[in-house]
Amino acid sequence: MKIRKNDTVLVIAGKDRGKKGKVRFAYPKHERVLVEGVNFIKKHARAIRQVRQAGIIEQEAPINVTDVMLLCGKCNHPTRVGFHFLEGGKKVRICRVCHEVID
Ligand SMILES: [Zn+2]
Repeated sequence: MKIRKNDTVLVIAGKDRGKKGKVRFAYPKHERVLVEGVNFIKKHARAIRQVRQAGIIEQEAPINVTDVMLLCGKCNHPTRVGFHFLEGGKKVRICRVCHEVID
């Protein structure tokens, strides 16, 4: 998947459009990412004895990876991700805006 854990992304679709955040988890199988501070949902929760009171809690939920764009750490632009093979065959991601290697 093009987006990975600890990437900073920009949300480009949905109710949180325009928000930026860090990817806390990536779920490559489901093509989803959990982004810090994005897509809060309300959950009705039962009390866990001594730990949590019953009630409504807000929690982030994963969003579709197609709804975010990677923010390039080099040029600070939202970008699509390209791939590049280094000498020796290592595959790296590149920024399509500034063509720098992302990782
Ligand atoms: Zn860039």
